[in-house]
Amino acid sequence: MLEFPHDMHTHSAYSDGVSGIGDNVAAAELKGLNLLGISDHSHYLREKALNRYLREVRRWSEESEITVLAGIEANITHSGTDVPDEIAEKLDYVIASVHLWLRDPEEYVELVKVALLDGNVDIIGHFGASFPHIGYPNEESLVEIIELAEERGKAFEISSRYRVPDVWFVRECIRRGVKLVFASDAHMPREVGNVSWSESVFKKAGGKKEDLLFEEFL
Ligand SMILES: [Zn+2]
Ligand SMILES: [Zn+2]
Repeated sequence: MLEFPHDMHTHSAYSDGVSGIGDNVAAAELKGLNLLGISDHSHYLREKALNRYLREVRRWSEESEITVLAGIEANITHSGTDVPDEIAEKLDYVIASVHLWLRDPEEYVELVKVALLDGNVDIIGHFGASFPHIGYPNEESLVEIIELAEERGKAFEISSRYRVPDVWFVRECIRRGVKLVFASDAHMPREVGNVSWSESVFKKAGGKKEDLLFEEFL
């Protein structure tokens, strides 16, 4: 059983997930979550699709005992994050993730800085997922990233799918008051709520309820 039962990163058939939003909600209820976030990929959610998506998330939230929030997973690109103001203001939260194939960790860190400076971004998604492939940044640049997140009031997800970031990083976030969320990155209902790795790292790092971005829903 999870002590902080929430999952802020799940996909549905509105992007590359396999099921309806209602299936994610049902799975979250079965797993005993208090809070579920639907966070489909931004490039699938333009105009009409976005409006249908939002209506559906709101409807499921009303019908469910648990809180369901409407999020989005934006792409961090060299020209910024692909969620404009008019979309961001309709959503409960915005996750921004690097999905580009980069040459080195320095380039990755620079892109994440762009997202940390973006007023529409709330959470950085799966930070460091590609470090095993492109190499690890030095500790100095990681500290810079955390300090910028602190300054700008941004949060990081702890991704059970990619098993990032590590305990050291999460501990540094907590020490500086940078908030955290748990994330399965589910693409099918049976993966919804698979966040035990997130909780275990959070607790190893000394995390308490008040260190979670959405503590009021837990
Ligand atoms: Zn992603
Ligand atoms: Zn995702």
